[in-house]
Parts: sequence; C-alpha cells; structure tokens
Amino acid sequence: MADAAGRFSYYNRLSAKNKAIYRRGDAITSIALPDVAGLPAGLRVAAAAAARALTADKPSLVRAQAQKICDLVTGGLETERVVVKVLRVRPRRRYGELHGLYTRDDGKEPTLRVWMRTAQRADVVKPRTFLRTLLHELCHHLDYAHYRLGESFHNPGFFKRESSLMRLLVPPAQEPAADAPPPDDRPAEPASDATPADPVQLRLPEL
Ligand SMILES: [Zn+2]
Repeated sequence: MADAAGRFSYYNRLSAKNKAIYRRGDAITSIALPDVAGLPAGLRVAAAAAARALTADKPSLVRAQAQKICDLVTGGLETERVVVKVLRVRPRRRYGELHGLYTRDDGKEPTLRVWMRTAQRADVVKPRTFLRTLLHELCHHLDYAHYRLGESFHNPGFFKRESSLMRLLVPPAQEPAADAPPPDDRPAEPASDATPADPVQLRLPEL
C-alpha cells in the first residue's frame, strides 16, 4: 500500500541512506532515450520479433531479440550492457513463480534472466508479460548502471520508468484495455536485503 506521498509501506523500514535513494529513484518517472533515428522503430521490431519467437517456442530467437531490445536501450543511453539469458520453465519459490531475475556485482557481467514458461503448467508466457518482465529487470539494471542509485527499489517511479519503456515497445493502441499488474521477479524488499553473494531479487510491494 502507498501512503499519502505515494510511498510503499516498506519505505518506513528503510535506513536514512536508503530512504534518500528511494526518493531519488522515485523522482525519475521516465527513461529518456536519445532522439536517435531508428531507435524507436528498432525497439518495436525487436519486440514484435521476440513475441513471435516466444509463441513459436524458439528460445534462441527469443534470447537474440531480448538481447537486442536491451542493447538498443543501453546503447542509446551509452551505459553498461547487460547480458540476457532466456530460460525454460520458471523456478518455483516460496512466494510463487520467479518471472525474471537480475544479478550483478558477483564478479560476473550484469545478467538478466527471464523465463519462457510458467512453472504451474509449463505454458508459454504471454508475449506482453514476457516483454514487461524483460523491461522490469532492465530497469533494475539501469538503476545501478545508468542512474547510479546504488540500490533498486520498487516504487511508483520505478513502475513509471518500466511503463515508459513498455510504451516504446508496444504502442498503447495495441495494449489491451485492462491489464494485470506486472508480474515480478519476485517480491521483495529492496535489493539491499540481499547479501552480496545473493542474486538481486526484488519483490513487488503490495499494489
Ligand atoms: Zn523487480
């Protein structure tokens, strides 16, 4: 739940340092990609190709297009690249299925993982859900690599940034009228709760 300032309930439990990071991140409400010719079209083409490959159950093609989407964004922002891995069936977790996962600072390249199939029935994930999960994890990467926030919190600003990218990939006219909230990598508290050796797993606050 959000308070009067629109802050999620875990905000009050954060340290003063993390509260400041939360507020800085919350104030960034869109991701300003440079006005480079071909960038918006490239994103839309890659998103459509990723959706087709997902429906056709072609993991290597899905991965290539997902990587292209991330490369277009990080390249456009002239920021650190993130490696995309596309995996088969979502792992189960205590709180539900893992949709995506972002890891960094473990001595390896920043890596983003997304899964193609649900754990429940191994159905292929809906393309729109897949793309939103991809962008969600990419936004975690940008919080560290581009905005240099030092932590990546789920807050209203974070979801606005995610939505600003989603609008570039899938024009609003193509979106269904009613859409479920984005599924998450996981439910978590801020990344700061993870020990350094742990992957960064974040959980969705109650919306
Ligand atoms: Zn997240």
